[in-house]
Amino acid sequence: MKFVTRFAPSPTGLLHVGNAYSALQCARWAARNHADLLLRIEDIDHTRCQSHFSDAILEDLNWLGIGWNQPVRKQSEHLALYQQALNTLQSRGMIYPCFCTRKAILNERSRMGVAPHQSDSATHYPGTCRNITTLEQKRRMQHEPFAWRLNIAKAVKSCQSAPSYHDQNGAIYQTALAHDIIIGRKDIGYSYHLAVVMDDALQGVTHVIRGEDLHSSSAIHRLLQMLLDLPEPIYIHHHLLKNSDGERLAKRIDSTTLRSLRYMGVDAAQLRNYLLDQSHNAIWPFVVGDEAAIVAKLAI
Ligand code: GLU
Repeated sequence: MKFVTRFAPSPTGLLHVGNAYSALQCARWAARNHADLLLRIEDIDHTRCQSHFSDAILEDLNWLGIGWNQPVRKQSEHLALYQQALNTLQSRGMIYPCFCTRKAILNERSRMGVAPHQSDSATHYPGTCRNITTLEQKRRMQHEPFAWRLNIAKAVKSCQSAPSYHDQNGAIYQTALAHDIIIGRKDIGYSYHLAVVMDDALQGVTHVIRGEDLHSSSAIHRLLQMLLDLPEPIYIHHHLLKNSDGERLAKRIDSTTLRSLRYMGVDAAQLRNYLLDQSHNAIWPFVVGDEAAIVAKLAI
């Protein structure tokens, strides 16, 4: 059986070294396993994605020496597929419209006595709209903006077996899902989760290789696959590239971009070797603006 994996960046900015690290994990796994490597541009979020970043991703990956099977799939060109999946979930009674604003969710949580927790206060949903009657739903849907939420308890109950996903060594991860997540966003209509599972299935992805920060997404994806009768890929979560303070490299902490390294004359092969060298323990000790030091260090 031919294995298929994918690298699936979102074009919300230029690729940084953390993204490069992830792309290299996918590419190395594909080479070792004679697998196809697909490139998918996850650009359904028109509020954050920009097409010039999509072009830049292709250019920067090319520079890094990563090749992929054609064609590149752009999620924004396949919205009808995600709508179909949403319709299926709706017809099975697995989702419900949620009219809550962020503020309403916070108020409801404090009314219930849940202490506001910094990281999850805005996302942990107390279930406010779960039991609204169909009639009331229809009435409010006429004039109020709404998101679609997955009724987790109902979804899990409908599965033949407890949802879980597996890694390449056969380890099993149970999918403990705490609250009704959004599956169709108010502003863009769909969610990352829905698009990913539809595309992975349609593209015949057998192995999903992604950062360990996405374990909770993998859990959601496995549940969605079960609900939508989609095949189960194997999940491989790699370590994240971190800075010397142990923080993961991310756009929000202004990480060094591939572009800046290229412009400074960094050799792509040297960068690849550095990132894949296990003795560095996935630590990127350089800071933004340190490009000259990086050039010197990588050349050693
Ligand atoms: N597009 C997502 C990201 O850039 C996800 C990747 C995935 O599903 O592996 O984080």
